[in-house]
Amino acid sequence: MKVLIVGGGGREHALAWKCAQEARVSRVFVAPGNAGTALEPKVENVDIAAEDIEALLGFAHQTGIALTIVGPEGPLVAGIVDRFNAAGLRCFGPNRAAAQLEGSKAHAKDFLKRHRIPTASYATFTRANFDPQYLRAQRLPLVIKADGLAAGKGVIICETHDQAIAASRGMLEGDFGAAGETIVVEEFLAGEEVSFIVIAHERQVLPLATSQDHKRRDDGDRGPNTGGMGAYSPAPLVTASTHARIMADVIEPTLSGLAADGIAYTGFLYAGLMIGADGTPNVLEFNCRFGDPETQPIMMRLRSDLTTLCEAALDGRLDRCEAAWDARAALGVVMAAGGYPESYRKGEPISGLEAAARLPGKVFHAGTQLTGGNVVTSGGRVLCAVGLGVDVRSAQRQAYDLVAAIHWNLVQYRRDIGWRAIAREA
Ligand code: AMP
Repeated sequence: MKVLIVGGGGREHALAWKCAQEARVSRVFVAPGNAGTALEPKVENVDIAAEDIEALLGFAHQTGIALTIVGPEGPLVAGIVDRFNAAGLRCFGPNRAAAQLEGSKAHAKDFLKRHRIPTASYATFTRANFDPQYLRAQRLPLVIKADGLAAGKGVIICETHDQAIAASRGMLEGDFGAAGETIVVEEFLAGEEVSFIVIAHERQVLPLATSQDHKRRDDGDRGPNTGGMGAYSPAPLVTASTHARIMADVIEPTLSGLAADGIAYTGFLYAGLMIGADGTPNVLEFNCRFGDPETQPIMMRLRSDLTTLCEAALDGRLDRCEAAWDARAALGVVMAAGGYPESYRKGEPISGLEAAARLPGKVFHAGTQLTGGNVVTSGGRVLCAVGLGVDVRSAQRQAYDLVAAIHWNLVQYRRDIGWRAIAREA
């Protein structure tokens, strides 16, 4: 069976690597992929952008692709699944209507409120009805969010009312393009964040291993927000009772709410949750796809075949499925270009990848490219080095041994990925 993975980041390298290990999978194509997927056995890059749905469809037809798995949200929100299905091709992910859960934060908040799923209180505004007095009446800090997709950058946490009003005006006046035409003004929630990712098919659900990521750039969870600087699985914060509460209070009402709204959701569903001091899970956001970098440690732990789970969901057999997991913990450290998440250089040659490949663990590529046989940087987040271990502490050690073997000019990474989990283990 031939599989197509859409996307070119670390998440897609991990998905492709995982699918390529299956005996029944003859070849994995990645569009557009990166240097990591180009070098992976049984995997081949295809020079088609993730957003070019017509070209992807043509390739899938010509090549006899049996299953397409979509990595990023862009093509999902643009309707890639609807297009593939209409052409009789199997494509794993939510359709365009279902992907609105991520495509519009205002839509997601209204959905959460309507179905009484715990989330921060909020109001939405456009330029036409923006009300600074509403903001002044709210408690601080205040969270201002652009409604649409903003590559993980459309959230500003404001410590003063003036700052919140300025951030709102900036978004409404086009700082984030069309994504900011509507904004969500939200109550700030204290607590610890976890990523809760499931495979869903209508009312059927298969929860995947729990994980936590680090969104801030600098050690101690300080500095600017990023796409994610590291992640680990499992998340010790999610005890058995918290897990049961998340399933009962968030995941099940979400799936029944979607069904009640007439939306058939199939695909990965990622709930970004803030777990309060008393264990209450509040939904911060939904993503209609797998997380990056959570995918990398989670795929390292998944023992079951991924394509089997995706096909079970597509066939409505998810309720008869179980996923098997490596009992060990996995931890991934993102190696980023100096200057990320602002401006950074591309084209820096990366050294030490061969030495790292001889060590235990796995280095997944994200922003890399093959140039004349050499691997060079081509993005902000460049690599994710993943270690395994009996606990998060030893997985961290293995991951940083990989990191120590690799170098390029102006590389940056955090030195404390997993610190909360390790403190809990101690
Ligand atoms: P989002 O894209 O909505 O997940 O927001 C990005 C990040 O902003 C989250 O991962 C949180 O760290 C933070 N955040 C978003 N909403 C809130 C909130 N209501 N309270 C506290 N932090 C938040």
